Amino acid sequence: MTRRSVVSYTLESCIRCMKCIKACPTSALSMENDRVIVDSRRCINCGRCIRSCHNRGILAQGSTLEDIKSYEYTVCMVPGALINHCGSREEVEELFYAIRMLGFDEVVDITDCTARQMEEAQLMADSADDVTFISSFCPVINRLIANRYKVLQESILPVNYDSEIAAKQIRQRLKDKKVGIFNLCECEAKLELAKFPYGNNEYECDHALSLTDMFPRIRKNMQKGRIPVSLCVKGLQSCNPVRIVQKDQYLIADGFDKVCAVLDMAEFGLLNQFRLLILYPCFNGCIGGHMLWGNSFLMTNNIDALSHGKTKGSSDVPFEYVYTEDFLKTDEDTRSFMERTMFFKNVNEELERLPGFDCSACGMQTCRVMAEEIVKGNRKEEDCRVLKTLKEKADDDQRSD
Ligand code: SF4
Ligand code: SF4
Ligand code: SF4
Repeated sequence: MTRRSVVSYTLESCIRCMKCIKACPTSALSMENDRVIVDSRRCINCGRCIRSCHNRGILAQGSTLEDIKSYEYTVCMVPGALINHCGSREEVEELFYAIRMLGFDEVVDITDCTARQMEEAQLMADSADDVTFISSFCPVINRLIANRYKVLQESILPVNYDSEIAAKQIRQRLKDKKVGIFNLCECEAKLELAKFPYGNNEYECDHALSLTDMFPRIRKNMQKGRIPVSLCVKGLQSCNPVRIVQKDQYLIADGFDKVCAVLDMAEFGLLNQFRLLILYPCFNGCIGGHMLWGNSFLMTNNIDALSHGKTKGSSDVPFEYVYTEDFLKTDEDTRSFMERTMFFKNVNEELERLPGFDCSACGMQTCRVMAEEIVKGNRKEEDCRVLKTLKEKADDDQRSD
């Protein structure tokens, strides 16, 4: 299924430097008529374009607190990545109070669901004989595989996102109320996992909130009160690659480039000795989420500090809440094998005619992307500025001879 990209473009802030277009790992951005265009089919919501732009030309926005008013009762889910920001239990309790002061009726810690997600993945991997599974908890990884490593798609574990496991549980518990479920998101990718603001109605969670937007308000409300919490230690640990229980049959990698290197190898069957690839595109895992404001190295130490005190086990939600087939559903390529082969042949031939500078002057990330667009009929060879300049120069030279 195609979902909308969470990335939005602000024309007024853009100086047309093309940095975002160059930064995109899936060539989802291009420039047309002096504006950046986002191709939702290619975008994996990794947020690299946002970080590459120094002018706030590219943003990822969530729902607003105004949306609270649409419900009779509201619940805000707090991920382990945010909890790990706190250096003590007292601070976590203050954080929950500060979040409730934003206007929610209830604030729920979802570390038990994060733990369940990881436990299920490890259980399946431990009982597998000669299969290599890939963790499913990051939407960037799932989208990246669907986009670039289709052959690995069947290796993604059918284990649901922790926010979805938690939201299903909340909806079941509050089924008599008109409940609105909000998720605080530590990264751009998680903004996708809700009905609003991007219209992804298949999710159980209603609204995704950006922690970048919520941070100033939460900070203002700190040290004003406390709500008692009992955390799930395994869930807190699952947010960081260093704190996960390591086994020889698991390969754990963090950071976008490292993850791509792992997937490149997996695609060619070079990692078949492993039963589970646990992949985090963010450096230091979810505690390195780009919408968080702290230092992820310090947060790694917080995990140990928070492991003492009242704790809870992993979520006991029913089996059908935990498993999903959604990761495997993507847009079907309806072209026949012959049509696809012809397309690639035509693209390669077109590429031979282009200069190969990959300069992006045409608005495309590389000459290959430009060649694809020419073959699709969306651009013309004359749109290549280098070719045009070379031709003009050749004409001038001919005239002066
Ligand atoms: S990085 Fe992209 S959005 Fe930002 S100013 Fe440059 S072209 Fe515009
Ligand atoms: S979020 Fe990632 S994939 Fe999407 S446009 Fe930006 S850089 Fe490209
Ligand atoms: S050489 Fe031409 S086709 Fe290639 S990126 Fe530059 S302008 Fe685009």
